[in-house]
Amino acid sequence: SKLKMPQPSVNIGMVGHVDHGKSTLTLALTGTKTDTHSEEIKRGISIKLGYADTPIYRCYDSSGNVHYTREKGENCDLERVISIVDAPGHETLMATMLSGSALMNGALLVIAANEHCPQPQTREHLTALEIMGIKNIIIVQNKIDLVTRERAIESYREIKNFVKGSIAENAPIIPVSAYHSTNIDALFEAIEKYIPSPKFNENDDPIMYIARSFDINRPGTPVSELKGGVIGGSLTQGEFALGDEIEIVPGIQTTKGNKTVWNNVTTEVVSLMAGKYSYDRIRPGGLAAIGTKLDPFLTKGDAFTGRIAGHVGKVPPVAFSMRLESHLLKRVVGSDQELNVEPIRPKETLMFTVATANTVGVVNAMKGSEIEVSLKYPVAAFNGMRVAIGRRVMNRWRLIGYGIIQS
Ligand code: GDP
Repeated sequence: SKLKMPQPSVNIGMVGHVDHGKSTLTLALTGTKTDTHSEEIKRGISIKLGYADTPIYRCYDSSGNVHYTREKGENCDLERVISIVDAPGHETLMATMLSGSALMNGALLVIAANEHCPQPQTREHLTALEIMGIKNIIIVQNKIDLVTRERAIESYREIKNFVKGSIAENAPIIPVSAYHSTNIDALFEAIEKYIPSPKFNENDDPIMYIARSFDINRPGTPVSELKGGVIGGSLTQGEFALGDEIEIVPGIQTTKGNKTVWNNVTTEVVSLMAGKYSYDRIRPGGLAAIGTKLDPFLTKGDAFTGRIAGHVGKVPPVAFSMRLESHLLKRVVGSDQELNVEPIRPKETLMFTVATANTVGVVNAMKGSEIEVSLKYPVAAFNGMRVAIGRRVMNRWRLIGYGIIQS
């Protein structure tokens, strides 16, 4: 059997303003670029967010000092494998960033020292982390090679000032040069200290948030050789094993006469992959791809993005409407102008990010901060789940707050 890495045990988001060095830092940390290219997609293991995995080793030198690296040398022990999820910096992809953050256990917020802080997406991404409740944050002060000592100190003060009163107020700030791979071991050490892997319990019912789905067959494959549909995503709890009977919710919409019905989708796990390796069991951490017996036509082209997979009968209920306790931001995030967030209005159309699902809904009823919305497309959701709320402001969906799902 071929040598393989243990599965990653934690997903770490890479966020920050465009050009501040997210891709370069991912390369410095993992030795690979996050890959969203078609080759990865064909193998069914990538999501629209890029991702890359790396082991972290704890190593001792001759004087007994500890340092952390991704290269296994002498006197090194494997701590764990981490998965870096690379969020796109472009503002129109905020919805992707939000649905990706449903999979993040912690985040690296990259801030370039040679630019004034905050830049628009620095602010936007910190707000998104706050809204999604991601507390384990490390601030990476990048491009330290490009600035004077004075500017480095000034940049540090700007960052401190910017995060004051936010979820990242006490986050460590690690200065690095991603380009020159300077101080990356200190960043690994901070990751070990501040972004623990979530606790894993093999007895929990497995829940997977589906981020992508595929038809991995080449055009023209004979029917007898067709491979079943593949779903890609990350487990939030429990584990899947080969042969498991699984259910995917919401199911599939079909029309009978003038009636729309949602049919359950159940299938069997026939293969499990994470990164380039096959496994018999898959647990939370990193992105996994599940081969199924489903008709690949159903899973083609990300058709299952936003759905949830679990054991048959152990999946969350499907909701066509939601009751939310809403919490609005003071200002609209991501617009050039400083716009105040107006209160939610009855009959208003809003966008909701529920785990990896993005769906539009209309406000049917309101009482104080509680709103009831009917959804254009149903979602699978748990009580108490955090939902990001977006509103169309000047022709773009903007983040305006979040809601907590009430029974
Ligand atoms: P992203 O848009 O946040 O993913 O940023 P990239 O990783 O693509 O970096 C943007 C540019 O900054 C590229 O030209 C990088 O080579 C450069 N860059 C990134 N990190 C550093 C650094 O630490 N020092 C220097 N000098 N350049 C960097």
